[in-house]
Amino acid sequence: MAALQDLKKYVDEFPEPGKTMPILFIGHGSPMNAIEDTEFSAKWKTLGTELPRPRAILCISAHWETRGTFVTAMEKPETIHDFGGFPDELFAVQYPAPGSPVLAQQTKDIIKKAIVELDTTWGLDHGCWSVVRRIYPNADIPVLQLSLDHFQSPQWHYDLAKDLASLRNKGILIIGSGNMVHNLGRVNWQHPDSAYDWAQEANDKFKQYINDGEHSTLIHYESLGKAVMLSVPTPEHFLPMLYILGLKQKSENIEFFNDKTVMGSLSMTSFKIS
Ligand code: ZN
Repeated sequence: MAALQDLKKYVDEFPEPGKTMPILFIGHGSPMNAIEDTEFSAKWKTLGTELPRPRAILCISAHWETRGTFVTAMEKPETIHDFGGFPDELFAVQYPAPGSPVLAQQTKDIIKKAIVELDTTWGLDHGCWSVVRRIYPNADIPVLQLSLDHFQSPQWHYDLAKDLASLRNKGILIIGSGNMVHNLGRVNWQHPDSAYDWAQEANDKFKQYINDGEHSTLIHYESLGKAVMLSVPTPEHFLPMLYILGLKQKSENIEFFNDKTVMGSLSMTSFKIS
């Protein structure tokens, strides 16, 4: 019976007819943003008061790469501390949001681009919980994750995102969590507020292409030259952004926030589409 009610909750129309849930790309940066009051985490907190309250959240995190595509389908996803070298206080953080096996099944069913498998082994990684715990600190909204198939192209990911569009009309908040500029090998630990010229150049280029709707240029970022190649040495932190762009409707607006490059080679630049 509970399952039936759960199902009804998700197949009902979003309360306001014609309304579509906004979508977010969030630059998550250091996991410390989960516990430190930074300018970035401050903005995440305000998002929670500005957004329509979602029925559930679907996260596409840079930190869950798989062979094939999976969606988390457990009742109680575990908080995964998938990092090392941070204080005990960060390892102690729990984000006990429920999952939703019913929504996981629905998500599997609407994705045509891939054969999606239901996962009961993952949970919530820090790409997801470090951000979502700031937006919704009460942990009372179901949270699911969709994995990134490591073996697929940027175009494939962008196309798969389009299969998720109907979730927006059912009050599901879709969040892509990565960093559009992310080169850990070049991080400048001595100067947290610094930005390398190439990192800033790539960040500004990406913003321009996003504003101009040049998604194809972003999908083919590997041909954009040296600054971009230094900024995106591996795709996993960039791909969550392509999911959010793939979900943008032509008439929607883009609002950038946390537009700042830190530690030389990480950009926190984020955007909301609504
Ligand atoms: Zn990360």
